[in-house]
Amino acid sequence: MNEVLAQLDLNKILLESINDAILSVDKNTNIIFLNSEFERKFSEDKKESPSKLSDVISNEEILDGFQFCINESVPFRIEDYEITYKNRKHFYDIVITPMMDKGQCFGAMGVFRNITAAKLSEQMRVDFVANVSHEIRTPLTSIKGFAQVLENSTELVLPAGKEYLSKIIKNTERLHALFSDLLNLSMIESRHRLIKSEINLKAMIESVRAMLLQNYSHKNIQISYDLPIETLRVDPKLFEQALINLIDNACKYAGEKPHIKITSFQEKEDIIISVSDDGPGISREHMGRIFERFYQVESSRTNQKSSRGTGLGLSIVKHIVSKHKGEIWVESEEDKGTIFFIKIPTKNKRISLDE
Ligand code: ADP
Repeated sequence: MNEVLAQLDLNKILLESINDAILSVDKNTNIIFLNSEFERKFSEDKKESPSKLSDVISNEEILDGFQFCINESVPFRIEDYEITYKNRKHFYDIVITPMMDKGQCFGAMGVFRNITAAKLSEQMRVDFVANVSHEIRTPLTSIKGFAQVLENSTELVLPAGKEYLSKIIKNTERLHALFSDLLNLSMIESRHRLIKSEINLKAMIESVRAMLLQNYSHKNIQISYDLPIETLRVDPKLFEQALINLIDNACKYAGEKPHIKITSFQEKEDIIISVSDDGPGISREHMGRIFERFYQVESSRTNQKSSRGTGLGLSIVKHIVSKHKGEIWVESEEDKGTIFFIKIPTKNKRISLDE
């Protein structure tokens, strides 16, 4: 008996000495145990002696997470959960795991890890990139403006100089695009939580199409749809950015008369959206690498990297998709065309804790 007590005491001491906040509940979400770190951070200002999970946690997502874990006997993870205590923001990574006995789930344990310090340094990095991008874009706009004035002047510049000016303008545009993409990528990477709402896919594609057609007025672009699934729950701003990048690539790479097709369909609990074009395709050796930052395929004719983009477009799409816990992949055949697929889950899924 003493041994058992000693063991229980040891377990309690271990749980108390862990720096994470820990809470466990039974199948009916009655609290079995919470450590002092949990009390300090989450229940100090709550009821005297809380008995139910809802006495200490009011956030729906966490309550649902515990319920999901108990019902399905699978782990559940909530990243970047934000709470305010003592007038300061704190961020937590929460992992809820089922407590099992002889194959039966009898409750769940939540481990709340404080990641505020990492979050703040990440925020400093994002702010730094945002400031640098802004500071650089302002003089760039001015360089481009003056170069355009010179390009349009017959008195100030000899005809031979105009060629150099057009190169200056083109390169300032490239730098501008590069800093915009860097800023976007950095903001998406650090985005704490998605702000999801229901979108109408067709309406969103129509507005992306109208925007892009302005940039490609010199091309005869045809965009067709087949959208049996029309509504989708996503972060509208980010998802629109993903569509812009994919459709823009299709317009950019698929010749003078590209035919782009966008489809959506349901596969079990996922929605799959595809963007296909009839362009030059991507060879097998490059397909595995195009989602990497700055990776651009060399043109087989000129042996030069594409000067038309920044090499960041697809890595931005990949980040957006993974923030939605989805997947992206590509199928392509040289000289036939390319299809990009995005898979967005519609339901909570079993979370792999190795992710
Ligand atoms: P970029 O800014 O260069 O377009 P991306 O990350 O969007 O960068 O794409 C990476 C590379 O993948 C591109 O340089 C291009 O070679 C190739 N690529 C992307 N989309 C297509 C497409 N629809 N057809 C052919 N090649 C493509």
